[in-house]
Amino acid sequence: MTDSSEKKYRGRFAPSPSGPLHFGSLVAAVGSYLQAKNAGGEWLVRIDDIDTPRNISGAADDILRTLEAFGFKWDGAVIYQSRRDELYRTALQQLTAQGATFPCGCSRREIADSSLLGIEGPVYPGACRNGLTAGRIARAVRVRVDDTNVEFTDLIQKSITQNLATEIGDFVLRRADGIIAYQLAVIVDDAAQRITEIIRGADLLASTPRQIYLQRLLGYPTPSYGHLPVATNRAGEKLSKQTLATPIDAKNPTRPLFDALTFLGQNPPVELRQSSQEPLWDWAFRHWSLAKVPASRAIRHHSAATDLGRML
Ligand code: GLU
Repeated sequence: MTDSSEKKYRGRFAPSPSGPLHFGSLVAAVGSYLQAKNAGGEWLVRIDDIDTPRNISGAADDILRTLEAFGFKWDGAVIYQSRRDELYRTALQQLTAQGATFPCGCSRREIADSSLLGIEGPVYPGACRNGLTAGRIARAVRVRVDDTNVEFTDLIQKSITQNLATEIGDFVLRRADGIIAYQLAVIVDDAAQRITEIIRGADLLASTPRQIYLQRLLGYPTPSYGHLPVATNRAGEKLSKQTLATPIDAKNPTRPLFDALTFLGQNPPVELRQSSQEPLWDWAFRHWSLAKVPASRAIRHHSAATDLGRML
């Protein structure tokens, strides 16, 4: 491998197949794709299907077909997390060999009773940190975090600081059901795929310090990160399969694509709203600017052509 290919820009889009592609995931696909193409780099697609109980049968193929219908062209073969379990378990073993993990026998109830509230619920109270007490059975595996700040500069959200000890706590790497946690799988894959920059939704911003922490423990490089504004519904909830976001219409890609570009602050010319998707992509390739992407969006996207349409 030559030096220049090592440094080549590699971005990615990593949807979870828990339902069809919705506007929020389209925004992440468009943002990461244009950023990669703009840098003359590669854009990879990975199916984040490690959380098998949440996978919906047929959703991965449906997402890929929708991406194709929109005109996205990815580099290399699509990889599936569900087929890479061994890789994640090897990384977990490495962390365990380093003494960075511990088996945890706490029940959900015991953790919920933690007196410290973090940004994603109770901070792990540390009961099993120094070994399982008699009578406890190991359920999950956690990583020990330390009381220092993880800091990074996000390309969109700017300076981010998080103290893992007080804001998150020792977090799970292998869940009680045996499944490898997203936080570990994602950094193993990003490193294996030599991803240099990650553009994704700001709903994952709070996860990034955990991922950087794990990268450091494992000696992986840290890519740069840019977290896009999150699309919400009228109730202010993030669009997701859980909030029953309307799937996007793959038969009529121009309008959602136009809306995604508008949502990302790119202001495509209004005449392209009625065009076919090629001239719109062509415009987007030539005009994409990450600097124009807002950190957050006050407007709410209900479905294509509602609130967003009114903004134009
Ligand atoms: N699979 C995650 C999602 O669909 C994205 C993971 C990532 O980009 O790191 O929300």
